[in-house]
Amino acid sequence: MIWFTEYWTENVGLTVKANEVKRIKSKYQEILILETPEFGRMLVLDGLIQTTERDEFIYHEMLVHPAMLAHPDPKRVLIIGGGDGGSVREALKHPSVEEVHLCEIDEEVIIASEKYFPSIAGKLRDPKVKIFIADGNAFLEEKKDYYDIIILDSSDPVGASEVLFTKEFYSKVKASLRKDGVMVAQTESPMIQEEYFKKAISEIRKVFRNFGVYLAFIPTYPSGMWSFTIASEYIDVINTKRMEKVKELKTKYFCDSIYACLFTVPKFVEDIIKKS
Ligand code: SAM
Repeated sequence: MIWFTEYWTENVGLTVKANEVKRIKSKYQEILILETPEFGRMLVLDGLIQTTERDEFIYHEMLVHPAMLAHPDPKRVLIIGGGDGGSVREALKHPSVEEVHLCEIDEEVIIASEKYFPSIAGKLRDPKVKIFIADGNAFLEEKKDYYDIIILDSSDPVGASEVLFTKEFYSKVKASLRKDGVMVAQTESPMIQEEYFKKAISEIRKVFRNFGVYLAFIPTYPSGMWSFTIASEYIDVINTKRMEKVKELKTKYFCDSIYACLFTVPKFVEDIIKKS
């Protein structure tokens, strides 16, 4: 066993005991699969934890369900990034969904996830799912006025993901959404990545008329406090809630009480949002 450390900043990190299962050098990044006593299998890209068997449900449920429930009848879903398949699995829990497109830049992430994370990637071959190996930014050029939901399940805003946190990119997202379209993005940790968080929100609000920020507690992400930003041009995302649909979903974290006060955030987070 080794001690694996993810460095959150120069001064702090998360260290876990682990056995290395596989290390793959893809065209885009280093993919590392670890087996850990505490969090089960762990997917690490370029030294950063992306997902673990133990806590992935929190991230994937919270990323996907609020946006799906903000839309009156989501049929066409696009996920950008998300090669581990967790967001695909959650999107398919909504019976109205007819197609889920997954646009992942790195095919090796999908191959590794199917092999080492069957409980997360298990729905990637569902007949409703179509996988595109492409850069999300380029992919959106060709799909105008098509999706009901776009989910940005990207890695941190460095390298290939950097472009996915810009105003130009969010404008393309808006153009690819249909009239009642809703977008949601993982927007980093307000606690330990305040600059990333602020930048994402300030760029999103330049493009969409309605937006809301919410949080979830994810133990293996920097500081454990994680943010998501939901946005739409036409839907009042903060006040549109379909409470009656929550019970129909099989979930472990997302539930009526969390949904009812989804946009309740601590005062310091509210202050950062106001200043963004
Ligand atoms: N839940 C994760 C997190 O926040 O740590 C994100 C998981 S998911 C594995 C992120 C994926 O985004 C990676 O597999 C990466 O290859 C993909 N990705 C990065 N940049 C991309 C781009 N420009 N277009 C499409 N996919 C991209």
